[in-house]
Amino acid sequence: MEFRAAVLHEVGKPLAIERIGLADLHRGDVLVRIGASGLCHTDLEVMQGSVAYPLPIVLGHEGAGVVQAVGEGVTQVAPGDHVVCSWNPHCGHCFYCERDQPILCEPFLANQRQGRLPDGATRYTLGGRPVHHFSVMSSHAEYCVVPESGAVRVPREIPFDRACLIGCGVMTGVGAVARLAQVEAGASVAVIGCGAVGLNCLQGARLQRAETIIAIDTDPAKLAMARGFGATHAVRADESAIEAVKTLTAGRGADCVFESAGAEAAMQLMLECVRPGGQAVILGKTNVNRRVSLRFGSLMGEKRIVRSSYGGARPQRDFPWLAQLYLDGELKLDELISRRIGLEEINAGFDAMARGEIVRAVVTFAC
Ligand SMILES: [Zn+2]
Ligand SMILES: [Zn+2]
Repeated sequence: MEFRAAVLHEVGKPLAIERIGLADLHRGDVLVRIGASGLCHTDLEVMQGSVAYPLPIVLGHEGAGVVQAVGEGVTQVAPGDHVVCSWNPHCGHCFYCERDQPILCEPFLANQRQGRLPDGATRYTLGGRPVHHFSVMSSHAEYCVVPESGAVRVPREIPFDRACLIGCGVMTGVGAVARLAQVEAGASVAVIGCGAVGLNCLQGARLQRAETIIAIDTDPAKLAMARGFGATHAVRADESAIEAVKTLTAGRGADCVFESAGAEAAMQLMLECVRPGGQAVILGKTNVNRRVSLRFGSLMGEKRIVRSSYGGARPQRDFPWLAQLYLDGELKLDELISRRIGLEEINAGFDAMARGEIVRAVVTFAC
């Protein structure tokens, strides 16, 4: 079988739409016909080279679609099921899985970074040579192969272009607030950086019934959008931001601060804005080899600092929960989509993302 996929051959170069070959499914594989795939900053980081992956590779890690076929031994999903793909499939029985930290699953991490599926092999070829899998998903394509634990069944009523967002941006933001930090009703929350993940932190805080929800960004347009996602206050990210947050939180600072800007200055602002004894959660990313310096005094006061990759996700538990919240009108997904594009427009979509013009562009397929 062959299908169209957006392939990254070289860092700094556009993606090429190619027809890639698919090997026979292995035991435990699920073949998903993609309905929609969101463009995420992490894809862009690979294209720009701030995170290194083996090339060529098919990017995309925010996909939803229909199960087309399953390999031997698959029992959790069947052809025809609607699924959201998880970029953290996990084995369920390694050192970290046994300690309830599936994000660190050993076979997942060992192979994910090598662009392989967790059994150590690839399934794709181009001109007789292997093509790598990104984040065990590679959803910027007509089809993807994921392990069984990476295909999570969701209600058929949720459209694919909205469902796919659950798989990365929504889970990461809402999960960081609801699952990881477990923000309590009545709490004060600040969110620095109001892109896709930040907006989802804001709506996570609203879902948790936080009382004071402060959006912080340099861009007035993003702050205006933040209000629609639950921010009760909007603060410009300048020298006055720390004072503004303190004024809104009885002089203490916020109970929980989420950094989703991926900038050193935002990480420092996070520490200045969290109250003593509060929680600071880093969601943003910077180049992995870059050093970050922080004012030591801002670390004092029994603050808990956590780096979150996937918002404490337990996809089998959380994806159906988030999908149902959307269907019940509690979770905003439509508003996250800035534009819908075809696969051949994917480079223009990433260019717009790099310029900061869009929250999410979603590649849609007839499915
Ligand atoms: Zn992502
Ligand atoms: Zn594991």
